[in-house]
Amino acid sequence: VKGYEGQKVAVLGLGRSGLAAAHALEAGGADALCWDDSAEARDRAEGQALILHDLSKPSAWQDVAALIVSPGIPHLYPEPNKIIAAAMEAGVPVDNDIGLFFRSFADEDWDSFDVSPKVVAITGSNGKSTTSALIHHVLQQSGRPTQLAGNIGRGVLDIDRAHDGEVVVLELSSYQTDLARALTPDVAVFTNLSRDHLDRHGGMGGYFAAKRRLFAEGGPDRAVIGVDEAEGVYLAGQLSEGPSDDRVIRISVDRKLSGPGWQVFARKGFLSEYRKGRQVGSIDLRKIKGLPGTHNHQNACAAYAVCRTLGLAPKQIETAFHAFKGLPHRSQLVGERDGVAFVNDSKATNVDSARAALSAFKNIRWIAGGLGKDGGIESLTADDLSGVTKAYLIGHSAREFALRLGDVPHEICETMGQAVARAAEDAQSGDTVLLAPAAASFDQYPDFEKRGEDFTRLVASVLSGN
Ligand code: ADP
Repeated sequence: VKGYEGQKVAVLGLGRSGLAAAHALEAGGADALCWDDSAEARDRAEGQALILHDLSKPSAWQDVAALIVSPGIPHLYPEPNKIIAAAMEAGVPVDNDIGLFFRSFADEDWDSFDVSPKVVAITGSNGKSTTSALIHHVLQQSGRPTQLAGNIGRGVLDIDRAHDGEVVVLELSSYQTDLARALTPDVAVFTNLSRDHLDRHGGMGGYFAAKRRLFAEGGPDRAVIGVDEAEGVYLAGQLSEGPSDDRVIRISVDRKLSGPGWQVFARKGFLSEYRKGRQVGSIDLRKIKGLPGTHNHQNACAAYAVCRTLGLAPKQIETAFHAFKGLPHRSQLVGERDGVAFVNDSKATNVDSARAALSAFKNIRWIAGGLGKDGGIESLTADDLSGVTKAYLIGHSAREFALRLGDVPHEICETMGQAVARAAEDAQSGDTVLLAPAAASFDQYPDFEKRGEDFTRLVASVLSGN
């Protein structure tokens, strides 16, 4: 990365993104001074020929031009991080890899390109990965050069130098947007807002503020905003210069949007695009296998809107949607037998994403539970649970979930193995055995991916009769 040649830049947190930042700084001619509280992480950095520098010492900040913080480190809530606080007090600018990326990107000389590369950034509580992957997929299918990075697999500093006309698609979590000093995407997307991840941002206000930073002054040329929550309506309203301003594209899966502006909404499985009061595009989403459920229709609206801002035709987008397979662990069909479908939505780690998954299917044998979050499943209504034939509860929160379920048939299974076996035994043709835990995985698994893989493996073994 550019901008720090010949200067010292401190790097706090030596996980994947911290190491990538340190190497990128070194490659740009800066001296990266690396630190991590864990000795193991420090050893790893030393093994990669990086210089360690104890940032916990008060004298650490002399001649330091900036501090780059890893997204995994909480900086202010629930408790202020001492090193970050010391840097701030010493007047050292605090930034992260996303800030470094945007700075470098803005500094590049794209003048020699026929079409300069564009950056699309996606934020929101749920659906970020699916929306990002879907945009990337549609662009690929349409022959546009594109790279996908951010919160989804590849770090932003691992992106290759962009090509002519390329679109860099970045999935950004609130942890990443809250510290970045530069956030200048060409197109910014805000999908939705739920009450997850609140502790680190000091409540809902802080959480929304972290996401909103993507839309600050001098912000994106285009903003795609989900207006099914009050926060989205507010954000879209703040960005609009007037009712027919088409810098903002409003999206909804909740109602028919109207007015002279630019809108994309899905109702009863039909996506419609309106501009200046006229319908200019539509897609029958019910025919798209890889995007089941209203929540995926929201992701489809967001991806559609972004692709339209990039000049793609509705037909091109529709064709690409048909070829979308979905992401692992998100409403992923992992097996079928005698009319029973087995669906892995291990990524439903909070109550909102579980609600979304439940609404996408009928006759559900629901496997739920794990490490419950604040409030557990208390916000699920009888309507949300109306598709559930029976719940099979696992993990730490099993008993608490059982209390909340009341009249909905349920049994406590403790382990995933038992839950899959029991659900498969009970299931009849037309049922869906759905893993959508509404809880974190950490009581029984290292992460949600491992939980989903375990479910997938158990389903395969049940289906093969072992
Ligand atoms: P993120 O990257 O924001 O966590 P994902 O695309 O990985 O989003 O989906 C996370 C979980 O949320 C999955 O369980 C999925 O079924 C559910 N989900 C996906 N899109 C939405 C949406 N638009 N609204 C609510 N839940 C969603």
